Amino acid sequence: MRDFTDDHSALALNTATLGHNLEGRGAGWSPERVIDACAERGLAGIVFWRREIGNRAIEIGERVRAAGMDVVGLCRTPYLVGSEVPADLMGEARASIDMAAELRAPVLTIVTGGTEPGTKGVAESQKILAGRVAELAPYAAERDVKLALEPLNPMFGGNRTCLFTVRDALNVCAMVDAPNVGVAVDVYHVWWDQELASSCAEAGDRLFGYHLCDWMEHTSHMLLDRGMMGDGVADLKAIRRAVEGAGYDGACEVEIFSAENWWKRDPAEVLDIMVERFRTVC
Ligand code: ZN
Repeated sequence: MRDFTDDHSALALNTATLGHNLEGRGAGWSPERVIDACAERGLAGIVFWRREIGNRAIEIGERVRAAGMDVVGLCRTPYLVGSEVPADLMGEARASIDMAAELRAPVLTIVTGGTEPGTKGVAESQKILAGRVAELAPYAAERDVKLALEPLNPMFGGNRTCLFTVRDALNVCAMVDAPNVGVAVDVYHVWWDQELASSCAEAGDRLFGYHLCDWMEHTSHMLLDRGMMGDGVADLKAIRRAVEGAGYDGACEVEIFSAENWWKRDPAEVLDIMVERFRTVC
């Protein structure tokens, strides 16, 4: 396992941690200001959300690289299955791939969407999802974009996801059978899973991302009360051991949705604490 005690060159910021840079969320910093603040602190890179980028993908990507970092990823495709898919599903999904390519983000995250109307459970939805991902995979591959299926905590079943575990995501990867389709492991979603190490080992080089935060003992909101690393009960070292034991050596991306705590703080303070916690507890 990598030693980060004196080295945070693998640390990346997911801009959700600062409230997505958006007015009304966090401090509303511009992407440029976020880029400068991350570069000053020696981060590896940044993961953006589509709504922050607008039509400036090429410009923002170049700005990140000029600051000595990489765009590590982009969040995310539209839901690909379930009742909340957009009208022009494949058009919007391809547009998200195009944006990742323009940013030169190597990984585009997929939050799948929930149970398909007219079906029950998740098995049918996973099949429909696999079909749609299989259709998108070659388009993404032509643009050097990997697609990372992110399993979500089971409480997000119904409307947000049909994948609850890394094992679920691997089952869909097997159905799709494309080299650029893999899995993103997010502490918030998998911290409880006792099968995590074995499913990560099985995933091997299909692990495309590792997302950090913490699970608060007394969580107050299922979406917007993620903890800073070290403040909660997730066994962060054990999870990283599982991910890196499988061969993952990419960025560790801090992704904290926290409407009542971290989004209310000065982003500079959030970034400083993030660096310190990454070195000491992750
Ligand atoms: Zn995540």
